[in-house]
Amino acid sequence: MSAKQTDQIKQAYQVFFPEGRIGSYVAGELIAGEGHDISLVNPATGDVFLTYKDATENVAQQACAAAVAGQKVWGALSHAERGRLMQEAGRLLRANIEPLAQLESISAGKPIRDCRGEALRVAEMFEYYGGWTDKLYGNVIPVPSGHLNYTRREPFGVVLQITPWNAPMFTCGWQIAPAICMGNAVLLKPSELTPLSSLAVAQLAEQAGIPKGVINVLVGYGHTIGQAALSHQAVKKVVFVGSPATGGKIAAAAAVRGIPCVLELGGKSANIVFDDADLERASIGAQAAIFGSAGQSCVAGSRLLVQRGIYEKFVKMVAEGASKIRVGDPAMPETEVGPIQNAKQYQHIRDMIDSGVREGAQVVDEHSSKDALQLGFYVRPTVLKNVTNDMAVARTEIFGPVVVAIPFDTEEEAVRIANDSDFGLAGAVWTKDLGRAFRVADKVKAGTFWINMYKVINVASPFGGYDASGHGRSSGVEALQEYTQVKSVWVETAENPNQSFGYSSSTSVI
Ligand code: ADP
Repeated sequence: MSAKQTDQIKQAYQVFFPEGRIGSYVAGELIAGEGHDISLVNPATGDVFLTYKDATENVAQQACAAAVAGQKVWGALSHAERGRLMQEAGRLLRANIEPLAQLESISAGKPIRDCRGEALRVAEMFEYYGGWTDKLYGNVIPVPSGHLNYTRREPFGVVLQITPWNAPMFTCGWQIAPAICMGNAVLLKPSELTPLSSLAVAQLAEQAGIPKGVINVLVGYGHTIGQAALSHQAVKKVVFVGSPATGGKIAAAAAVRGIPCVLELGGKSANIVFDDADLERASIGAQAAIFGSAGQSCVAGSRLLVQRGIYEKFVKMVAEGASKIRVGDPAMPETEVGPIQNAKQYQHIRDMIDSGVREGAQVVDEHSSKDALQLGFYVRPTVLKNVTNDMAVARTEIFGPVVVAIPFDTEEEAVRIANDSDFGLAGAVWTKDLGRAFRVADKVKAGTFWINMYKVINVASPFGGYDASGHGRSSGVEALQEYTQVKSVWVETAENPNQSFGYSSSTSVI
């Protein structure tokens, strides 16, 4: 481990874990687990830097009790007071951007400059939803005369949020802020590989005055503590962000319990480049789309669809750009792409590249500045050309810095290929023809679509998938709807109401 990384761990640690240990964060206390040892590995070196114990069932019990109690206190506060406390949490998060970023960088392996940006985004999420606590109105329904009927949006109570390792801090804020905004309490189960930043965010929120028990963080495996929380009666809704395979298990478990479930899963998004596009900008956009976060992003532009006349030229431009990307130690300020977060994912990416080559794809190697990265889980940005949409590399989520370039001839064919995927998370089109841009945006099945840009998301805008990419929405006002249930309230207003059994003159009685 480099001296810089060792310092980084120590400093970030002292801020959030002065006792030098971690555990689940329940009602404002860190509770040590009693299960198997889980090791946190620095992705930049492959070294273990911390070991903690899996949380067992009794931690789930305690956390559920804490959340039920915390929700009562939180739900009893005025909307304005909840908003004020969320704004204060945003302020404290802003004041701690550096240690939060350091903690995230070391455990997720993300470049420090990206982590600083993500920490700021988390502060903004608390601020944004802090402004929404007293602004979500119900409706007055124009029912037939003689009655007043209005709706209220009420919290579920306790919600479980299960998050993955690729953007742990970002996803934590992305889910916690809208949930608590609406008066829920949260059990957050981050990936066992990256629990640190979620623990830190929860602690800061509580320091800001958000009552104990409103945000609880369960650290450990999905099949142990995740399942224990999911089966607990206190949990009234589950929001899952992660792989399609695990998402299926969560949805099945939620269905058995009869509770609703939001799934935010993977993608195989099409980034479509027409021959009239600004190719310089499209090339930079295509690189950012897939190589940012080392491709470990659900919205990554992993299928690059290029019009045939510019195919060779454009693929070469992207590969040349890729060869100049600064891949390296995430602690260094100049690093643009860090390592893969874990050994299993690293192997999956290597296997997928090999499978592509076996199926006839060709690695475009412009190797102008190959660096020797011998330690850690590094994969250099890779462009595969001569790919067809039926190859495994075009159908399976690789979740790494690997883009597959597929040629197309016409607009119709581009849309057909884009939609020929199990997934439907995101997509983009690059063209100067406005009419075509909107036509393609309308026709591609995806929860998010960009025109002449890629990968911009914002807390104010809804986010989620079509098809195998999941259902339900995070962020925007849509997330507030996800984190509430609607109550319809009926009031008798007629002067002489018809009291006859089972019949009303103006409305149906069920
Ligand atoms: P990966 O396999 O890449 O780690 P997953 O989708 O399995 O991705 O993990 C996402 C989240 O789901 C993590 O927090 C993980 O611990 C959790 N998880 C995994 N399996 C289960 C399960 N059976 N029940 C509940 N949570 C799970």
